[in-house]
Amino acid sequence: MRRLVILGSTGSIGTQTIDVIKGDPEITVTGLAVYGSIDKLKEQVEELHPETVCIYDEKKAETFKGYGLPVKVLSGMDGLIEIATMDSCDEVVVSVVGMIGIQPTIAALKAHKQVALANKETLVCAGHIIMPLAEKCGIEIKPIDSEHSAIWQSLTGEPHNRIEQILLTASGGPFRGRKRDELKGKTKEDALKHPNWAMGRKITIDSSTMVNKGLEVLEAHWLFDVPVDMIKVVVQPQSIVHSAVQYVDGSVKAQLGLPDMRIPIEYALYAPDRRALPEDKRLDLAALGKITFEDPDMDTFKGLALGYRAGRTGGSMPTVYNAANEEAVAMFLEDRIDFLEIADVIEEAMDAHEGQVIEAPTLREILSIEKWARDYVKTNSKIVR
Ligand code: MG
Repeated sequence: MRRLVILGSTGSIGTQTIDVIKGDPEITVTGLAVYGSIDKLKEQVEELHPETVCIYDEKKAETFKGYGLPVKVLSGMDGLIEIATMDSCDEVVVSVVGMIGIQPTIAALKAHKQVALANKETLVCAGHIIMPLAEKCGIEIKPIDSEHSAIWQSLTGEPHNRIEQILLTASGGPFRGRKRDELKGKTKEDALKHPNWAMGRKITIDSSTMVNKGLEVLEAHWLFDVPVDMIKVVVQPQSIVHSAVQYVDGSVKAQLGLPDMRIPIEYALYAPDRRALPEDKRLDLAALGKITFEDPDMDTFKGLALGYRAGRTGGSMPTVYNAANEEAVAMFLEDRIDFLEIADVIEEAMDAHEGQVIEAPTLREILSIEKWARDYVKTNSKIVR
């Protein structure tokens, strides 16, 4: 019996994780954690009967206790850490959004729990802490991100020193092919229309700016121990080739499939085995007809170029890239800045941090730089009106 804890259980990845393991008698869910979606959590508790839940928002946790369900209720960051390390947990799916994922991931690794990681920020900001820790604890972090799952699958059985480059694919988002002047005045409604993937709001905006791809370059750098300049982003608009690896003989190995997050979730939970998923959804190559590729336009989608810059600088710069982006996206969703200004705000914060970069920041330093970057965007930005 495998005992699973899902952090972020009511989000897109969390609900699909529950979908994937449904009917597997070998997996039992012992813990669920959410930010504040207590009504959805109530339904999950009634269906899955976990012994513990954590609601990050303390007030919502109090309301939830009033429901009188037979489940232990934790709250806050302490609660997240407790649920990720409790005795009745063997594996943790980290699918919370944002930097909130860092501390429970570190705690889970230290407690020798298996970790399936959908949270990008953990590796982007703290990869230099997480990867050596996982190695020390003998735990292989299983990526849930579709691109990283594809890279992982393409690396299986291959010698690491024979990698020439990683080909990280991108859909290009809803604004692919547009130039800067065509993107002026784009609204959140436009940006939230992703052509292929149904995802949460934050990641959908990140996909439209290609900051998501910048974060994924940094994630791949840590997960697969390759320099950022060995990671090449290739736009693949149909989202069928989920990523690939090119080897020194020129050979390319890729993983293909329909854009369905249940596949990388399934692989993260069952690899090297595979669990059957419903046959109604299968990639039909002949019906698809063609798959196309193009280079990314890094001048228009400056968010991606800034991701490479953050990776080349390293240290605390990726934390600034990520935190400034989180603030900028929130401001865009509140109609306080324009679409193109999301990247401008990130660049402004990165410029301000240049010269103060900490080479290998501790967790405390990461959190304080995160706060600095958020405050900088909120109070010092010349772009935000
Ligand atoms: Mg992805």
